[in-house]
Amino acid sequence: MTVLLSESKARCLENRKLLARSRLLIARSRRLLSPSFEISGSSDENLRRTIRTRLATGSLFPVDGKVFAGKGTGKLCSICGMPIPQGDIEHEVVGPTTVFAHWDCYSIWRQESDELARTPQQSRQHSVKTPTPLHIEREDGAGINPPTTEYAVSFGGSTDRVGTVLLGRPQGLDALVLLLRGLGMAHGEIVTACQALTEQPHYVIPDVSLTPAVLRRFRL
Ligand SMILES: [Zn+2]
Repeated sequence: MTVLLSESKARCLENRKLLARSRLLIARSRRLLSPSFEISGSSDENLRRTIRTRLATGSLFPVDGKVFAGKGTGKLCSICGMPIPQGDIEHEVVGPTTVFAHWDCYSIWRQESDELARTPQQSRQHSVKTPTPLHIEREDGAGINPPTTEYAVSFGGSTDRVGTVLLGRPQGLDALVLLLRGLGMAHGEIVTACQALTEQPHYVIPDVSLTPAVLRRFRL
């Protein structure tokens, strides 16, 4: 029995080492993918940051204490994506869906969920959304027909237009409306923009909040 126990302890250690190594590899590949990613910082910090981002963008639900702890059965952890080995404690978390998490992963998830609950809605939206000006332009001239001409939609930068990113070149006002809807803009704002663009070649919406989901869709 003692032999078995120490053997499983050793395996558990081995698994933990493997887990730590995978986390390190995941963190490293994330850094490679994102040059702005902080070079320093442990894999736990990276995991925490990922959890925080996922909670903020809504791709992970906050935990509110509905959890069952049991023996690991090899299920995949929803936080780090690694299997939860038999020697580990598996947390079964009940939310909009039922997911599983490692002890360590769950504890960070719980901490970040508590932190999120403490953050007032106002500042949370600030950190999630990026207010930026949106520019809509078209060619100007006698032969230009505003309902059918090509528009250029770009966002970012300031008044000097440095750092703007082209989001698309919709052909005609209908296509422009579709693009603006895709950006999550309100109906009223779109109508105002279209009206303005039938009379002028350049229209700026000074403060557009693009959600992380929208930014991802446009690969920004
Ligand atoms: Zn995990």
